[in-house]
Amino acid sequence: MTHAAVLGAGSWGTVFAKILADAGNPVRLLARRQSVADEINTSHTNRGYIPGARLPEAITATTDPQEALAGADLVALAVPSQSLRDNLADWKDLLRPDATVISLMKGIELGTTKRMSEVIREVADIPADQIALVTGPNLAPEIAQEQLTAAVVACTDHDRAKRVQKAVATGYFRPYTNPDVIGCELGGAVKNVISLAYGMAAGMGMGDNTKATLITRGLAETTRLGVELGADPLTFAGLAGLGDLVATCNAGRNRAFGEQLGMGRTMAQAQEATNQTVEGVKSCRSIRDLARGHGVEMPITEQVERVCHEGVPVRQAVAVLMARQTKPE
Ligand code: 13P
Repeated sequence: MTHAAVLGAGSWGTVFAKILADAGNPVRLLARRQSVADEINTSHTNRGYIPGARLPEAITATTDPQEALAGADLVALAVPSQSLRDNLADWKDLLRPDATVISLMKGIELGTTKRMSEVIREVADIPADQIALVTGPNLAPEIAQEQLTAAVVACTDHDRAKRVQKAVATGYFRPYTNPDVIGCELGGAVKNVISLAYGMAAGMGMGDNTKATLITRGLAETTRLGVELGADPLTFAGLAGLGDLVATCNAGRNRAFGEQLGMGRTMAQAQEATNQTVEGVKSCRSIRDLARGHGVEMPITEQVERVCHEGVPVRQAVAVLMARQTKPE
């Protein structure tokens, strides 16, 4: 049995706490708002994020980081990617020195272009092999209903990956392990951006050829960046790559946001309609910057960034993509 803490009670943090609890571990869940913590403790629900789901009683919610982290040997971080650095600075002195820290975040930091595991290593000052991530086609609302899925536990320390795998294996959640942290992390972050593009295409009424093209070419540019950064290209054919990309294109928040834009809504209207953190909206810029810094072409990401941050109409971005002069591979 592992004493687990999940820091962040949004949709994925809450559902990951459920997975840990269903796998037999007592879990403390850190919420920002007292009303959310109270609701989890008294009604065993978190209706604002996971409507209709009943949470296990082995989850105790608190707003006190010290209480959440006391004795925790497994600590999962589930805050918005761009808030990680500040949040972790407040929490790092409360971590057990030997704790395994799991990143559940799928983003790249703006300004630094760092992956989440790099931010954790830097801020918490812990060795890389103490950091793991859990990623894959893991839409929180589906897992809340115990619909079956698989996931990847990525860690450079194989024994630690196996321990995390055991701590999160349930009848509805099947984790595999992969030592390729860079590839798994990039797959999770870039798929949000490709899902925005996919949503835009869907919102414009485009069909299955367009959608399949976006998935395939999106994965191609993700792999190109990954290989440049030292990832194993095979990772992108697996759950953390293609698997997560397909799931998120079909049903995620990023797809929903992109769809709004494709239907002609403004950024503000799209944000209001999705009403949660949509990671790709900020990460499209940091991923573009990361790619440019390494001389890697990511044309879909470039155009998503222009639509989201430079006021370029979706139709114009599509025209630029179709007219690109570079030689198709
Ligand atoms: P969204 O944030 O787009 O909902 O994607 C969730 C996810 O990462 C599923 O694996």
